[in-house]
Amino acid sequence: MSKKPLTVLLANPRGFCAGVERAIEIVERALERYGAPVYVRHEIVHNRFVVESLEAKGAVFVEELEEVPEGVPVIFSAHGVPKEVPSEAERRRLFYLDATCPLVSKVHREAERHARVGRQILLIGHAGHPEVIGTMGQVEEGAILLVENVDEAESVQVDDPENLAYITQTTLSVDDTIEIIAALRRRFPAIDGPKKEDICYATTNRQEAVKAIARNCDALMVVGAPNSSNSQRLVEVARREGCPKSLLVQRAADIDWEALGEIQRLGLTAGASAPEVLVEEVIAACRDRFDVQLQNVSGVVEDVTFKLPRELTAKTASA
Ligand code: SF4
Repeated sequence: MSKKPLTVLLANPRGFCAGVERAIEIVERALERYGAPVYVRHEIVHNRFVVESLEAKGAVFVEELEEVPEGVPVIFSAHGVPKEVPSEAERRRLFYLDATCPLVSKVHREAERHARVGRQILLIGHAGHPEVIGTMGQVEEGAILLVENVDEAESVQVDDPENLAYITQTTLSVDDTIEIIAALRRRFPAIDGPKKEDICYATTNRQEAVKAIARNCDALMVVGAPNSSNSQRLVEVARREGCPKSLLVQRAADIDWEALGEIQRLGLTAGASAPEVLVEEVIAACRDRFDVQLQNVSGVVEDVTFKLPRELTAKTASA
């Protein structure tokens, strides 16, 4: 039986960002340099495939520092950690490497700067996300209030509207965040904050790339993990942009083709922590069922790279 035609629109840019590439490289280089095992506190990036690939090379993933034995290196994930984590590592004399994305560290420095001059801080972000926990942990407890949506922006009670600042999580929906900031600015005209928000270039570019194709698709798949904030936002952006059949897919085997129904044009993208090999896997699964025509939709070309920690580039190992 001949296969039905399917046009697959590939969003650009998609997949790995510079912060994720750096974090993975830190683990790989640490394994080469210090040998297995290397411990990693929390999933280095939110993707099971990446985590399992690193586990196969000798990385051990734990949730808390107390699970790390003496004498082995430990790496902090790309999402960042509260200040007490490196302090505790130093107290225990653990050798640690920090894979926090430099764009998350930048938000940490903003929080510190506001706290130093006595401003109360509103953090726009999602409760419980490790980046939010890490950012809140840069300053004294209680110095940051979390604002998750417009309703909370409309109702949050602050100490002094004249002495206030906002910062944001890096992986939010750009459009939602604009609305939340507008509500805060309306209520607190003197609020200090970044020029736009702290959403990173990769999150912004991937959302723009989805907007560029969503309207032209019968369905859209975002390759990514359920705990990946930027991947979840891509699904929401696609739905809002006019493609209600938008879904998150971890692996090709998870795709419920029956539920997708009749489709002729499929949009495909990947969150910042999802490797391209998983996108290729989905394309291969499409080819098994359809006569696929692949269309690479052009978008912003990214050239961001981040330096590795000095310990990994110095000639002699420092652990
Ligand atoms: Fe850094 Fe943005 Fe990538 Fe997060 S999504 S690791 S903030 S570049």
